[in-house]
Amino acid sequence: MKTFLIKLFLALPLALICSESIGGFASSENFLVSAPDQELAEAVLARAEEYRREVAIRWLGSELPSGTGRAIVSARISQTSQYCRFWSARDTGGKLHTITVTDQRGQVSGYVLRHEITHLVLDTGFDGRLPPWASEGIAMLEDGQSLKSERARVLAGYARTRSWPNLRIILRTPRFHLNDSEAFITAFSFTQYLLSRRDPSTYFKFAVATNTNEWESAAHQHYGTSVEQLQEAWQTRVTRTHLRHLPANLNPTADMRKAGSSATVSRDPYSIHSTAKTGLKAVLTRL
Ligand SMILES: [Zn+2]
Repeated sequence: MKTFLIKLFLALPLALICSESIGGFASSENFLVSAPDQELAEAVLARAEEYRREVAIRWLGSELPSGTGRAIVSARISQTSQYCRFWSARDTGGKLHTITVTDQRGQVSGYVLRHEITHLVLDTGFDGRLPPWASEGIAMLEDGQSLKSERARVLAGYARTRSWPNLRIILRTPRFHLNDSEAFITAFSFTQYLLSRRDPSTYFKFAVATNTNEWESAAHQHYGTSVEQLQEAWQTRVTRTHLRHLPANLNPTADMRKAGSSATVSRDPYSIHSTAKTGLKAVLTRL
């Protein structure tokens, strides 16, 4: 334990250690949390451990072994902006994952943290073999209901205008960009659809297979159909499920422009959520 804490501290960026906004640290075998004060650091650590346990049991079937998938969590407070992101240690060449969460004090250990902990659990549980669309899809299932309701409006727009994202593009996307809300929403919805067809184990086998670009063979092996047929079936399900959410005069692009009323129109679903919730030009970015 002591050795782990020393390694964690040495791994912290100097700017982070010297930041005046950090007044508290809390740690366990799995996390080192920094926050503006000690009370918040301990609260975020407790929630991080809780989410790590719950998410692993739900999606992997059992808890992760203690000490695997260790992460540095940086919690920040802001009244006007929201930001959260997970960096895999695999991507950064380091040995520790990194999670950053910025939100209002009462929210910083909530759904946004659970979303990023989900990425951490999946990355660890599947040893980095899960493609971005699947990791994002599952993590978005862990989000709060208000976000899901906003996504339902956008999906209804796809159905109404019959303007559908191409699943083949989403499946082969190596990295989701912050402003590509279409990719995020499609990953979320397609994940919902696949989990409605078969069990999570099948979903994960299919997802891992798509990481090697074997989409067609994976679709036939795990769902008994082609990617094109999956696309059509997904569209049918979205239409039946979400079309009732759409006001008659809206389409997906207009809907996102209206909701994301910042200077640069963002298509990020989280921007929509943030603006709707706070009434400010807050920006929530998430990966
Ligand atoms: Zn994410």
